[in-house]
Amino acid sequence: MRLVLLGPPGSGKGTHGKRLAESLRVPLISTGEILRQAIAEGTRLGLAAQEDVKAGRLVADSTVLGIIETRLGQKDAASGFILDGFPRTTAQADGLAALLGERKIDRVVNLVVPAETVVNRLKDRWLCGSCGAIYNLSTAPPRVAGTCDVCGGVLKQRADDRPETVRARLEVYERETAPLVQYYERLGVLRNVDAAGPAEKVFSAVQQALGKVAA
Ligand code: AMP
Repeated sequence: MRLVLLGPPGSGKGTHGKRLAESLRVPLISTGEILRQAIAEGTRLGLAAQEDVKAGRLVADSTVLGIIETRLGQKDAASGFILDGFPRTTAQADGLAALLGERKIDRVVNLVVPAETVVNRLKDRWLCGSCGAIYNLSTAPPRVAGTCDVCGGVLKQRADDRPETVRARLEVYERETAPLVQYYERLGVLRNVDAAGPAEKVFSAVQQALGKVAA
């Protein structure tokens, strides 16, 4: 199963991607997560990307395609994968198709959420610094404030989840990434899912959108 999760920041790509990866037994590959880790470790990639990530701008296509080429070349991605946050431009989608060759993308699930919902969700979003579990203080809070239910790690907010940066990220999404809806529609692999409701309901709809390709 080769799956792409499409949708604006805060649409639930990470949350649903994680659950799907567990049930389908394929890796969840998030370019945002790889970049944040590189920034935290101060690697050359991290230093090159940090200004763009902080400002909510896209990192260069060639950089992100390099990350994906390396990651897809690893053994655990041989039988399938879920992409979260990639591709984000038509150049990246073309690059992905070239990398995959005969192996086509089976399904693209587009998580559809209004902009106001996203801004509201992201201001309450907290992540575990150790295992990456995602919480929302109003809809899915941790049992103990500031502590991860799963691993006991310390919860933190993302620097780019501040409302002004979220607005910049949404603009970038509309301009650069939204055209991918048509791109994958033309290839006949796109399914739209209403992702504004509660997580459980959205997850069922995502599973339905995968249909036979997940069997
Ligand atoms: P995300 O975690 O997917 O919201 O990504 C966080 C940030 O990482 C984005 O706002 C971009 O600055 C950068 N980023 C992640 N994925 C990509 C990508 N495919 N292309 C360009 N920049 C990306």
